[in-house]
Amino acid sequence: MKKLFFLLCVILCSCQSNKEEKTKTNHIQAPPPAPYFTDIKVNDVKLGKPAYGDWLFSHKEKGQSFEQFLNTKHIVPTKEENIIYLQPMGKFNSLQTKQIELIRQYLEIFFQLETKVLSTVSNDVVPKQARRIGDMGQEQFLAGYILDSVLKKEKPHKGIALMAITEKDLYPKPEWNFVFGLASYRDKIAVSSIYRLHDENLEGADFSVCLERLLKICSHEIGHMFGLRHCIEANCVMNGTNSIAETDMHSIRLCSLCQLKLQSGFNYDNVKRLKDLEKYFKENNLVEDLELMQKDLEKIKNK
Ligand SMILES: [Zn+2]
Ligand SMILES: [Zn+2]
Repeated sequence: MKKLFFLLCVILCSCQSNKEEKTKTNHIQAPPPAPYFTDIKVNDVKLGKPAYGDWLFSHKEKGQSFEQFLNTKHIVPTKEENIIYLQPMGKFNSLQTKQIELIRQYLEIFFQLETKVLSTVSNDVVPKQARRIGDMGQEQFLAGYILDSVLKKEKPHKGIALMAITEKDLYPKPEWNFVFGLASYRDKIAVSSIYRLHDENLEGADFSVCLERLLKICSHEIGHMFGLRHCIEANCVMNGTNSIAETDMHSIRLCSLCQLKLQSGFNYDNVKRLKDLEKYFKENNLVEDLELMQKDLEKIKNK
């Protein structure tokens, strides 16, 4: 059977339990949430019972409370480290290049942090021994090589997270057919491939479908880097996912609990973030996502 999992999510689960053990002393008690979070909580949509093939069907996750989040070591922006970087790798056509710029804009809004796109690096940085031909005749790159031998060396100015985006398909190890992406949360680096997110062309509706997937995947992965674990509270962009079909089903919205976690270390203006997201979805014709933001805005009492 083909292993179509998001390996990035698997890695997260295995490495976070240790951190929790170490941080049991100096327990931080969660303060009551600000009114914003209780206002938008009514728009959280409970997850249904997991069906065969769903992430939660095969992964019995317990979720992460706000208190658990506060008591787990995680990074927050500082004066020294506060810029998210994207590293395109390979040859991108004009529509793909446009999507990378749109991811940049989105991440800047989503995390309320400056986000920059580094100069594109050539596929030549990946040597022969870290490439192979996949089962559909497509060239694939070894994802771990990109993390260890390309991204780890890059130390962009004030970087807090670095994500490579490849045009080529990826594989994590010889016995796997492919992987959508791979991450090392400890090193704050990740790589995602654009290869499987769209058909041959990116015209018309395909453009929006691919863009929405990229926005979900990139915000999910960088969310992990900031200490957010998989969410089981509601339909949320931090839900674990087994396939691109499941990603499509999940909401692009961060549920009220995950927003509470993220904002606790960032201290951004929640309403400004929400209005920025509303504007972004409107400008990019992502109608369903726009409606989600509008529903949240309607519920906020102090705008
Ligand atoms: Zn994940
Ligand atoms: Zn959530």
